[in-house]
Amino acid sequence: MYKVGITGGIGSGKTTACKVFEVLGIPVFYADTVAKEIMCKDAVLVAGIKEAFGSESYFEDGKLNNKHIAGIVFNNETALKQLNALVHPAVFRAFDAWEASIPQTTPYTLKEAALLFESGSYKMCDTTILVTAPYEIKLKRVMQRDGVSAEQVKARMDKQLSDEEKSKLANHFIVNDEQQSIIEQVLALHQQFLKAAEGLKSINI
Ligand code: ATP
Repeated sequence: MYKVGITGGIGSGKTTACKVFEVLGIPVFYADTVAKEIMCKDAVLVAGIKEAFGSESYFEDGKLNNKHIAGIVFNNETALKQLNALVHPAVFRAFDAWEASIPQTTPYTLKEAALLFESGSYKMCDTTILVTAPYEIKLKRVMQRDGVSAEQVKARMDKQLSDEEKSKLANHFIVNDEQQSIIEQVLALHQQFLKAAEGLKSINI
């Protein structure tokens, strides 16, 4: 099945864009949400995290001790890489299982991931979309949505590749600057993906 990866910086509006695709009937795999879920459910992953970061990584009820993990990886690049090396393959496995459950009549699927490019998972997509928005707008959105300070948002933004870097790897763009219609941009892309998916199907027949 034709696969579209969608990403964007924090507060760019990638989830908002995905909701529009969902209205059009396109199934969306939210990689970051799934990652959080499987960190408590995937036995291989849980064992790997405990081995790498200690048994205190989980509470007695099996819930992830976010504070403990964040405390280790927030300012430690090696530990963050180690965590990602455990989580990303588990998310890839979950994506494959999810995709296998999608009806064959579905024209294409969307995979939303904040680290689509950083994790290398864009290589498993047929095409990619980068959602962009001006810096000040992203900052304002996340402060309002999460009730956090500008400094806290900036610290999170610093951990991600810049839009300039990401745009070198992206095939399509959605500009979510509150000036241009996100719905019209999604509709235009949807038409392109339907055609591309049809083309892929005829090659595979
Ligand atoms: P994150 O990476 O932090 O999950 P995201 O890229 O998925 O962010 P969204 O959650 O879609 O971004 O949007 C961030 C916030 O901005 C949300 O509260 C959303 O409702 C709001 N928002 C997004 N796009 C617009 C828009 N065009 N107009 C007004 N508000 C918007």
